[in-house]
Amino acid sequence: MFEKRIKEFILQEAPATVVPHCMPVWKAKRDFGLDTVYKLASNENPFGVSPKAMKAIRAALPQGYLYSDGSRDAVLKQKLACLHGAEPLNIFISGGAAMVLKSVCEVFIQPGDECIIPSPAYPPYYFWTFKYGGTIVEVPCRKEDQKLDIEGVLKAVSEKTKLVFLCNPNNPTSTAVSREDLCGVLDRLPGDAIAVVDEAYVDFTDDPEAVTMMPCLSRYPNMVVVRTFSKIYGMAGIRLGYGVACPEIVRYLDKAVDARGISSLAVEGGIAALDDREFRDRTRENNAAERQYLTKELTDLGYRVYDSQANFVWVDFHCHAAEMHDRLIPYGVIIRGDFPLARISIGLHEQNRTMIDALREIQRKESR
Ligand code: PMP
Repeated sequence: MFEKRIKEFILQEAPATVVPHCMPVWKAKRDFGLDTVYKLASNENPFGVSPKAMKAIRAALPQGYLYSDGSRDAVLKQKLACLHGAEPLNIFISGGAAMVLKSVCEVFIQPGDECIIPSPAYPPYYFWTFKYGGTIVEVPCRKEDQKLDIEGVLKAVSEKTKLVFLCNPNNPTSTAVSREDLCGVLDRLPGDAIAVVDEAYVDFTDDPEAVTMMPCLSRYPNMVVVRTFSKIYGMAGIRLGYGVACPEIVRYLDKAVDARGISSLAVEGGIAALDDREFRDRTRENNAAERQYLTKELTDLGYRVYDSQANFVWVDFHCHAAEMHDRLIPYGVIIRGDFPLARISIGLHEQNRTMIDALREIQRKESR
């Protein structure tokens, strides 16, 4: 009925990225009569929400009827600036890293601009490039180790390049490159191309300080570093993320989002979460130990696992990932089955062990 009145991009076919292949927990429970289903599919924090964040959100709830006056945003920005050796003017906060990335696309992409996307990638990069009229320039990751093809990215740069997405560690491949390697890319980018360094998973690397581009903020005014509270602080559903960039870019981003879109509860949660060192450490330690466990067990079962620096592993099951997703469901485990390989979020030991046992059982049945 409204077809002639809506914007063209809504009607156009979105670029082929991924069609989600991941069963919801409730459906797996219903269809397979299961009491317990472990979702290892969305890279969420298996410990839940940071307890400090939760406490602060509860305490702030009675004030939830008021519009924010921005003063608590300023506190959050100040804390983030301190954490990253920056100034509050360098910080753009938004309702999740996804909204930061979308704002960057909205501010910069004009029809005809080229956006370089190392692939496979976090699917919204493709959609927002398409939505804002950009041209997607894909650079496949290196076949042998599923790492960023640095030379490939540099070769793809042209005078039309507007954005270069650099997700480190990369979702879904789980691999990371060093800061030195990324500097090698940024040093050779034209100054009017914007590097979007997505560090959603940087806290899970063996040495985040050796990976993050935050120390290079003043060296690269054409860089936006993107972070989230969804992973290490377990706030995925609460929605809080931020970008760090030069003050000029932050001003444009703020201007593009001219109405407040961030929940005051998310801001309170974020302020408190930053002090929750105990939770951050517990999350990191479990992730590192379980990553090692999963990598070893999956390798022993005969599957190729790439060098993960994230809170998920990237596994070649020698069959389509969707097929393994479907086969694991009756065992009460949900993985992501829509990327070229399988992406499995790292859970608590019990969850990971359940998945490994299920795979062993699947193999046993197969060999009969
Ligand atoms: N970037 C990457 C690489 C992600 O994987 C995700 C979420 N899975 C996001 C950004 C978005 O995070 P947020 O929940 O903060 O919107």
